[in-house]
Parts: sequence; C-alpha cells; structure tokens
Amino acid sequence: MSSPAASAPPLKTVAHKFGGTSVADATRYRHVADLLLARDEDEQVTVVSAMKGVTDALIDLAGRVAGNLADWRERWHELRARHRGAAVALLGEDSGATVEWLDGQFDTLAEVLQALSVIGELPREVLERVQGLGEVYSARLLGDHLRSRGQDCAVLDAREVLVVDRGELGVDVDWETSAQRLAQWRASHPARRVVVTGFVARDRANRITTLGRNGSDYSGAIFAALFNAAELHIWTDVDGVLSADPRVVPEAVQLESLSYDEACELAYFGAKVVHPQTMSPAIERGLPIIIRNTFQPEHPGTRITARKDAAGPVKGLTLSPDLAVVNLEGTGLIGVPGTAERVFSALRAERVSVVMISQGSSEHSICCVVKAVDAARARTALLTAFAHELAIGQIQRVQLTDGVSVLAAVGDGMAGLPGVAARLFESLGRARVNILAIAQGSSERNISVAIASSDATKALRAAHAGFWLSPQTFAVGVIGPGHVGGALLDQLRAAQPQLLGKANVDLRLRAIASSHRMLLAERSIEDDWRGVFAQAREPLDLDRFTEHLLASHLPHTVIVDCSASPAVADRYAGWLAAGIHVVTPNKQAGSGSLQRFEAIAEAAAASGARFRYEATVGAGLPVITTLRDLVDTGDAVTSIEGIFSGTLAWLFNRFDGSVSFSELVRQARAMGYTEPDPRDDLSGTDVGRKLVILAREAGRALSLEDVRIESLVPQALRQASVEDFMARLDEVDADFAQRLVAAKAAGKVLRYVARLDQDGASVGLVELPADHAFANLRQTDNVVQFTTRRYCDNPLIVQGPGAGPEVTAAGVFADVLRVAAGQGARL
Ligand code: ADP
Ligand code: ASP
Ligand code: MG
Repeated sequence: MSSPAASAPPLKTVAHKFGGTSVADATRYRHVADLLLARDEDEQVTVVSAMKGVTDALIDLAGRVAGNLADWRERWHELRARHRGAAVALLGEDSGATVEWLDGQFDTLAEVLQALSVIGELPREVLERVQGLGEVYSARLLGDHLRSRGQDCAVLDAREVLVVDRGELGVDVDWETSAQRLAQWRASHPARRVVVTGFVARDRANRITTLGRNGSDYSGAIFAALFNAAELHIWTDVDGVLSADPRVVPEAVQLESLSYDEACELAYFGAKVVHPQTMSPAIERGLPIIIRNTFQPEHPGTRITARKDAAGPVKGLTLSPDLAVVNLEGTGLIGVPGTAERVFSALRAERVSVVMISQGSSEHSICCVVKAVDAARARTALLTAFAHELAIGQIQRVQLTDGVSVLAAVGDGMAGLPGVAARLFESLGRARVNILAIAQGSSERNISVAIASSDATKALRAAHAGFWLSPQTFAVGVIGPGHVGGALLDQLRAAQPQLLGKANVDLRLRAIASSHRMLLAERSIEDDWRGVFAQAREPLDLDRFTEHLLASHLPHTVIVDCSASPAVADRYAGWLAAGIHVVTPNKQAGSGSLQRFEAIAEAAAASGARFRYEATVGAGLPVITTLRDLVDTGDAVTSIEGIFSGTLAWLFNRFDGSVSFSELVRQARAMGYTEPDPRDDLSGTDVGRKLVILAREAGRALSLEDVRIESLVPQALRQASVEDFMARLDEVDADFAQRLVAAKAAGKVLRYVARLDQDGASVGLVELPADHAFANLRQTDNVVQFTTRRYCDNPLIVQGPGAGPEVTAAGVFADVLRVAAGQGARL
C-alpha cells in the first residue's frame, strides 16, 4: 500500500474501473492502456471487468453443461478463441506466455465443466467460481499489455485478497482481513501500476465468490478504499450518469454532479450505469466517484460526492422491471396495530425483500412491491400468516398483480418543494399510464410509482419529457416530401437555431413519409433529410407513423400533410382527437365531404388540438387568416371574389390576341406553371375547391357540388389522353378569340374569377372593366377581395404570388408556428 515517508509529499493514488463496454476487444484494451498511460498519477489502480459479454457467456456455458446440452464444447472453444485472439492482437510477438497461461486457465475450466456434466446440476459455488473467470482473464490481458509497453505493472487477482460476507442486504467487505492480505501482497508487488480483477472475491470460508452482477463497480470502490485512493474514476460507454436510461429515453441528458444519496437511489432503482453498493465505501471516506466515458475521455463526466446541489428538483428517473404487487386487503385491518409488522416479518421469514410499500391512511389495505421471482412465495407467506383473519373474514383477500415495474424520480432538491409529485402524475396521466401504487420516502428524495410493465417505456418517456423538456417541444411528422413538403423541410431546418434561440420553440422532425415509404427517427432527423430519407426502406404505415410520433411523449405533436391524398385527409379527425395538431396545404379536407370537415372541426374542438390549412388558398398569402380575423371580430362577409389560380391568372393576363390561347397554354406548361395535365387547371375544379374552403370559413355549409363551375375544357377533349389533348388544343382557339374580341369591343378584359355572394358560388370566365383590381395583376399573382359590413365601400384585398413551392411551404410553416404560439411559444 502507499505509505509515504513522513517528509515526502503524499503519493497521489487514483483508482480506475473499466467496465465490459470499455474492454470489448484488443483495440479497446489498447485504448484503455493509452488512456491510463496519459495520466500522471503516482500510483494507479485499475479494476477491470470481463470483456463485454463474457460473464453472460460463462454463465450460459455452465448452464449448458449442467443441463446436458451437447454443444457446450463449441462455446468453450469460442470463448477461448476470443481470448487468445485478443492476446495475440494485443501482444503480438510477446503473446506466447499469455496465450499459454490462457490455455492453462481454459483447461482448468474444461475440467470443472466436465465434472459438472457428470453431476448434471449447477451448484451455487461452481457458478460463482465460473462466472468470475472473465475478470481473471481480462486483468491479465491488460496487465501483460501494459508490461509489454515497458510499464512497471502488477496484476492482482482479487480472489487472493478481498474477503467478503454475503448478507441479506448485499455483500459486506471484511475490511480488516482484506487490508492485511493486500498489504502482504503489496510487499512483494510494489509496482506503480496495479491491474485488479473486478467482480471476484472470497467468502470467509475461503470459497470463491462474486459481488453480484455488475459488481465490478463495487470492486472499484473497494479497491479505491483499500489503496487509499484520492478518486475513483468509473469508465463506461456513456458520458456519465444520465437523467434516464438512454436506451429508453434518447432525450436523456448528462448530469454534472450527484450526491452519494442520489446516486444510491438511482442505482438501487435500476440505473445500470453504477452498482448500488459502489457508493458505500466512498461515503465513509469522502471519496469522489467520477463516472466517465472511455470513448470520450475529454468529457468531464458525472461527479458523485457528498455535496448536494439543487440543480432542479429531479435529477434522474429510473425503472425497475420484473416486479409484482402483493396487496393485503380487508376491513379488519382498520385501526389494528401491528399489521404492517406482521406483513413484514412474514415476508422476511420467506427471505422476500420488499422494494416498495404503500398504505392508504384508511388502513384498508397494505400493498408491497416485491421481485417477480419472490411473488408467489410472498403471497403464500401472507396467506399463511393471516390464515385466521382470512378464515373469519377480517381480511378479504391477498391479491397478486404480476408484470409490474417501478418508476422512480430521484433528486435531493425535491425535499420541501411542492409540485414535483403533481408534475410526475400529470405527465403519467396525460400518457394514460395507470398508477398501481405510490410511495414517497420521508427523505423526499424519491417518489416511486408502481405501474404495469407494459406501460413502462411510455411512462418513463412521458415523465422525462415532463421534467426535462421545454413545454414548447414539438414532435413533427411530415407527409409528402415533394415540392412543397421538401421546401418546408428545408425551411424548418434553416429556421431551427433561430426558433430555438429566440422563441424557445423546439421543432423535432421525427418522421417523414411519402406515398410508399417512411422514415421514423429515434431522436430527430437533423441534417440532410434528403439523403437520410433516400435510404429509408420501411413501407408506409400511417398507424405506425402516428404511434411513433406519440411514443416520444414530447409535449406536443404536429403532423404536416403536404400530400394531396384523400386517404391522409381521412386521418385528420383521428389525429386531432388524439391531441395531434394538423397543418396542411392539402385541399381535400377543406373542400371535400362536409361530413368529414365537420368531424375534423368537432375533433379539434373536443381535444383542443389545432387544424390549420392557410396554404390551401393563395399559397403563402394570409387569406384564411384574414377571413378568420374578420369573422372572429364579428364582421359579416357579404361577398368573396378573386382570382385563385396562378395558372389561369397568367394565361388571361397574357391573352391579348397576339398569341393564340392554345399556344399560351403550351408555353405555360413548358414553364411549369400548369399541372402536368393542364386540364386540372383549366377545368376550374381547383378554383372551385378553394372557393368552398373560403365559403366554409365564412360560415357557409357549402360543397363542391354547390359551386357553378365553368370548365374551359370543351366536352370533346375531356376524355382524351394528355398528348391528344395538347395536340388538339387549337380546337378551342376560335372560341376564345371570339370571346376576347367581344370583351375588347366593350372596353373590357377576360378574367377567370371565383365569386361567393348571396346568390351562391360560381367560378368562370367573366368580362371585367380594364381598370378593375383583378385586371392588372402581375404574372401568376392571386387576388382575394372581401366585401364585408365593415369593408363595404372599399373592399379588403389580399394580393400577391399565389403559387410556387417556396411560398406555399412558407404558408405551411407559418401555420406550424401559429400552432406553436397557441401552445405558449414566444412568437
Ligand atoms: P459497463 O460495462 O461499463 O459497466 P454497463 O453496461 O454496466 O457498463 O452500464 C452502462 C450502461 O448503462 C449505459 O450504456 C446505459 O445504456 C445504461 N444506463 C442505464 N441507465 C443509465 C443512466 N441513468 N445513465 C447512464 N447510463 C445508463
Ligand atoms: N462482469 C460482471 C458482470 O457482467 C461484473 C461487471 O462487469 O461489473 O456482471
Ligand atoms: Mg456495469
């Protein structure tokens, strides 16, 4: 041990522990060695786990042998090959002695296994002996590697020094004996660096034992204490302790510091990152424990010390799986002293440990959460202990509920702070998680709830979102990444930093779907959505798409439908009913069946989710918003008129007789101003749909059938193929030329106009005075004119570019932001 001479400055000893995740293969061992050699400690104690997966493999191997499974030899060979391979890769030409040693170890293992196969069962002592071998191999590999790099390094087999007792509350260290043995060992091994086997030890009867699964963390703390180290660094594969298990909650955040108490609670309730007993040797000595990432050594990690800081009421959330609830219920329990004591002594006699207890103040029932493996025994113990009360009806039942998990919220800062439990329950309630039992320790450091295991993931995510995410975080799903959808995705990405910074709005793109495929992202699709989506292979399934968006339990969800699909529009009511906001430039819902439209409105009203579709009329122009404002402020709309088609606007702006109408259609098509089949524009249906949308916004229960639509496609050309139609388009020229001449003669121009007034709704070609507001539009501009009670002499006009992916996408985006503002975003 380090025993500095009186006058010399004290030696600095630091203990390190590397988990299986840090020593998966030769490359990782080399990396660990680099990391250790880069540090300038006077004395360096390194506790290692078995290579990743080796403990499981050894347990499996022993089980196979005892279960008479013939293939155990293959597994034994595989395991030996893995270790030999690592030795050769690590040590190269120097590997001879190590490989020989490994072979000897594996031969001994084979002998033990052979003996097991004869007895056909797996005694506990043998399992203990076998499962800890991975650590023995691992320490030797790292030690030999350090020596091959010229380091003064000794390998300590903890089975030679560490003596423990396996008690009811876990494993207790015999400090005195262990310290003595270590001192003896150290006398003959004074090396500056010591590599120690984690996990393994001996009991007082000198039998080989282990510290329990994941016990190498505890070994780390024990050896840090025995070597009198100044710090213990526990190196793993994450940046420290996170606010929740990152495999369940990808949103989890790294914690800078934890108190020993917090770390104990988190570990005890399931945070796998550190073994619950690790803290006890550290607490007594005030030894700081730092959890850090081998793969990111520059990251400071999480510091666990005695210090309590109040960085938020809840530091972490954990889940303990595989539990059961035992409930003792009866009117005879009320006011009877000693019942709880009898419950616990009955359970204790059966060696059932109680994870959580809850009793209502009515004392009508006592409920205990126990491990699933103990559940049946626990129930029997209670049935026996209370047989008399059950027989005479003082206790009605002893009930067992399987498949239970406990979700725990942990933090020193909860003490004395009201509202923490409320926040937890609200999050769980919103995610529709049923709570079976609740417990809060009087330390107020932990609130635990028992829930069905089938709800565990969603409960953890919902609770995490409730405590860690800004209330303005949105899960966004985009359907239809075509022209408009694509432009929207680009705009979303570009605006993200500014939205986050200025408005605290966090829009997380979690899913994209096209008509055949979809991409569901675990966290969010950050950059290059095109590239990522191009790789997506999952077939479209809107149910899964929806579930995925909801599963994150982000505070809000919005689906943006940039498709033109009626099938997607059929989903809106369901989405809105589930609280999902819907934003769309798709005209199907606004102009399709009234029944569907009303169902959408009702679902939105019932759940409070928003349905916005500004971009269905006039692309990014504020047409619907303007109309809503008029109506909402009590104005009465007398008429709505306008030019709602950029294509038709362009055609008639240009049609002055110098070029034939058919030629203009050809030019427009070539420039991409028309739909691929120009009849979709010329038929007027699209304009009719927009008029229906505005009519409904103005409070009229109108449908497309109610609109008189003048189609510019003659009957004879309606069924033809697109090519035929284009080829025969000059058949319409004479008619259009004649209408133009007539209009000009009256000093007027031709415009394709939509109109809604007392007489009804119509769409068609009309003659307008040359100085009319609609007669002097530029290019493909749209115009909408509202005549209302307030705007009667001089109507309110909204005018500007009414087509194009960029402006349409901007209209959709503005709707998304309006939804966000409605949820409290500072926009
Ligand atoms: P090691 O092999 O280093 O001992 P473990 O696999 O035992 O590593 O523990 C690290 C893992 O614990 C992480 O990869 C992470 O998935 C998991 N984990 C569970 N809960 C937490 C948490 N609250 N913080 C960090 N990691 C956690
Ligand atoms: N190797 C042991 C286990 O897998 C101990 C540890 O790694 O902490 O449980
Ligand atoms: Mg571990």
